[in-house]
Amino acid sequence: MIIVTRKGVTDAEVDHIRERIESAGLRTHLSRGVERTIIGCVGDETLVRGLPLLSIPGVEAVHEVLKPYKLASREFSPDPTRIPFGDTVIGGNELVVVAGPCSVESREMMSRTAVQVGAAGARGIRGGAFKPRSSPYAFRGLGAEGLQILRDIRSETGLPVVTEVMDTRQVEQVAGYADVLQVGARNMQNFNLLTEVGRTHRPVLLKRGLSATVKELLLAAEYVMSQGNPHVILCERGIRTFETATRNTFDLAAIPVLKRETHLPVFADPSHAAGRRPLVAPLAYAAVAAGADGLLVEVHPDPETAVSDGEQSLDFAEFDEFMNGLAGFCAAAGRTLGAAPERP
Ligand code: PEP
Ligand code: MN
Repeated sequence: MIIVTRKGVTDAEVDHIRERIESAGLRTHLSRGVERTIIGCVGDETLVRGLPLLSIPGVEAVHEVLKPYKLASREFSPDPTRIPFGDTVIGGNELVVVAGPCSVESREMMSRTAVQVGAAGARGIRGGAFKPRSSPYAFRGLGAEGLQILRDIRSETGLPVVTEVMDTRQVEQVAGYADVLQVGARNMQNFNLLTEVGRTHRPVLLKRGLSATVKELLLAAEYVMSQGNPHVILCERGIRTFETATRNTFDLAAIPVLKRETHLPVFADPSHAAGRRPLVAPLAYAAVAAGADGLLVEVHPDPETAVSDGEQSLDFAEFDEFMNGLAGFCAAAGRTLGAAPERP
């Protein structure tokens, strides 16, 4: 950590700053310039991280040298984290597509969707049994019945299940059914929930919060990992900006930024970013080019009648077309795509 003092700082102030740092357990190193005095702090930066250093008289700026996240950082583990997922691995060379409806609506629609997306090359099925909705009057999911349906579909098709957990009280229950626990955008900074999912042995798909920075997303991952669960998948799903042409603003740059900052796999969710069907494929293809390890895509047998997110859900024919188009982008990015039958 480097402390820059203000112009005209007195010797007494410099001594006081050094005392504060040294009493916290770090060593200091002074560098006097013509205009400014710089205090280099050597040792475990975490010892002073919580201290209000900017409030000490004479301190103008504090620059952290180390990243605030440790377990999630690239330096901690230079090799990419690979997470077993059904018959495949997330974070390897394969671009892993997880597809399905926004909400689990019925057994019949889940079963049809799983069979269709699986045949098209999806490696996992998604669907919410517990749904975060902006309005308390909107459909909020089938709950326990939805989890049971997901379990049955999993045994029917062999496809692993990604489903959302919204509450600390439901973590154990959902973890009993899900292959991957999704933490939704609205819960990215629900620190109690992050702690609880960190105590399970289920991989966690962590969506970026609506207004979260990349650093905050990585710190949220750090919460999960600090509890002993190393299997976190980060997911860029669009952030809220002034733009209204799309449901959210897809932060494409976050993907290569994350790939540089962390060893964790990075997914993209083009459906929630776009908010409209025709935009899903272009955003997904761009995500593959930007280095995403996987895609989370909403698919519904009849989007017109979907109880949630129908506007952004692909129907089966559109999903087939989407997967066909995806193959070329995967090849260009040096990635394999699914165990789908050979494409013409
Ligand atoms: C979802 O995946 O259906 C969902 C609610 O996503 P998000 O948390 O990204 O809005
Ligand atoms: Mn949705």
